[in-house]
Amino acid sequence: MKLTENFHEYVNGREIVVYGTGKDALNIVDDISSFGMEVSFFISRDWHKKPEFIGKKVYGKDVLNKEKHYVVIGTTAFAWEISLDLNSDGFRNPNDYYYYYKIFGDTLNSDFYADNILRGTETIDCDSRLNESISVHIDIIDACNLRCSTCLRGSRMIKNTAGKMNLGLFERIIKKIHAYDYSIVKLFNWSEPFLCGDLEKYTEIADRYGMTTDISSNLSLKKIENLENVLYSGRGCLYISVSGFTQEVQQINHRGSDISLIKRHLRLISECYMEKVFDRKVWVKYLRFQYNTHEVDQFAEWIDSLPGLKFLLCDGWGHPQSQMDENYREERVFHDNAAVAARYLSQFEGSTHLRLNKVCRINTGIIIDYKGDTYLCCAMPNYPLFKVGSFLDDDINDIFARKMLHPYCRLCKFEKNKEITVQMKNKIISMLDVCY
Ligand code: SF4
Ligand code: SF4
Repeated sequence: MKLTENFHEYVNGREIVVYGTGKDALNIVDDISSFGMEVSFFISRDWHKKPEFIGKKVYGKDVLNKEKHYVVIGTTAFAWEISLDLNSDGFRNPNDYYYYYKIFGDTLNSDFYADNILRGTETIDCDSRLNESISVHIDIIDACNLRCSTCLRGSRMIKNTAGKMNLGLFERIIKKIHAYDYSIVKLFNWSEPFLCGDLEKYTEIADRYGMTTDISSNLSLKKIENLENVLYSGRGCLYISVSGFTQEVQQINHRGSDISLIKRHLRLISECYMEKVFDRKVWVKYLRFQYNTHEVDQFAEWIDSLPGLKFLLCDGWGHPQSQMDENYREERVFHDNAAVAARYLSQFEGSTHLRLNKVCRINTGIIIDYKGDTYLCCAMPNYPLFKVGSFLDDDINDIFARKMLHPYCRLCKFEKNKEITVQMKNKIISMLDVCY
């Protein structure tokens, strides 16, 4: 546990109450005393069985009153359920209660990307932003219309299905994300969000919880009946990924796309904006590869002529004209736990436990599929092998710990240079203790 420097200000003269009576509660009591402050009493669901803890009274949550009490959640198990409970009783994090859930060090500011864009940054290094942020990605549907060769979905290594997240499940997931105080949810990972005919209902739900929804689309669909509705529902960014101004160049990466359809929709977006300004920031994100740099200026100038749209240059990942990394092609390995385990064990010697101190920068993302299952990271397909839990059923610390302990992640060559917190280290050690 680690309390913020602003802790005094948050408490604001109220009595400090710790929710929990276990090992975590003891740690938090130590942290609180290091601020020269004292805990008044504890809250526990089992208060009648255990009315005292370290010489202080234990009560049920009904005694809590946010005018008098400042609550510190001092338990990892059920922490998010407790925060949901507190939220529904009118407590707000961090003004009325405190829950230290920040796993990967100091800043997890998911506004980082948007802030950079709003500052007018022209070129964004898409990787470095992930250094600074936790991002929650949800595929509300399980398909994409295009066949981009740089993408696992596009190359159909992730097959299209008719799967779609129901609105009830989406709302429960948003509630949990909200309880962790993340403010942005990204409605894309391996899918085209506009294939979801009622996309605006999802953005409206997130908006009700005060969350912004980022959407990334290829916009290469004949009809997008709800395009206007989505523009005017909720807040956040709409990114449209392109890779060429002419059809000839665009189709090299965005296979199966039609640039004239995309331009038609872009003009419509601009017309909507001129008629009635919408809150969404619309970015045409040009993925730059070596072969398509000559069309960048042409596209940028055209976008500049369309009110409501902005142009963003971004370096593309991989190369559409070369073979995908052979690991990606090796479905045998991706689909087969035994093959991955064998590769892991063969390299285990080089992968000492000390390396668990660090993670790669994209390990900080939470990837959720249309069923609510959560996966290793946005670079890996949503195959059973990479599933690390159910977002609703599992504690978020467990999810992150499983990501870190995943054999494929230990093997993966992505540079692991992001320190993890002591809290997470302890969590992992306790999980290893259980295993061995
Ligand atoms: S549009 Fe996006 S999700 Fe679809 S194939 Fe291309 S990169 Fe993949
Ligand atoms: S599998 Fe690789 S890319 Fe994914 S989180 Fe682990 S190290 Fe990073």
